[in-house]
Amino acid sequence: MDDKKTQFACAGCGATNRIPVDRLTEEPVCGRCGKPLLDGRPVELADDNFDAAIEASPLPVLVDFWAPWCGPCRAMAPAFEQAGRTLKGRALLVKVNSDDNPRLSSRFQIRSIPTLVRMHHGQETHRRSGAVPAQAIVGFAGV
Ligand SMILES: [Zn+2]
Repeated sequence: MDDKKTQFACAGCGATNRIPVDRLTEEPVCGRCGKPLLDGRPVELADDNFDAAIEASPLPVLVDFWAPWCGPCRAMAPAFEQAGRTLKGRALLVKVNSDDNPRLSSRFQIRSIPTLVRMHHGQETHRRSGAVPAQAIVGFAGV
């Protein structure tokens, strides 16, 4: 298994694309229909491909640590997606399922979710916990 790629379903045609995580900010397009794949949508990353993606990103990265059972996380998901569209080309939005990725949760000492972590050039610059509206997420990006 190549852990330096992430799967992404095309919103246009439904095809599953495998994108190298170090090229996420290069506006990848669908291999079948040619539509932009991310278009500001958050990317799911995991323990084994997180670092490669973060280190390769020339843009600030906002990481949303969440879990499926967490009500406030689910409530914030649409705001996070909306912020992603607003920040398209200016920041990369990433989601990490804290249950499925214990190494990242432990490394970032995630004690409550949702927690937003802003990273740039591979380093954490800010974080905040609790669900926030899209406007606050955009402000948090600082771009
Ligand atoms: Zn497509």
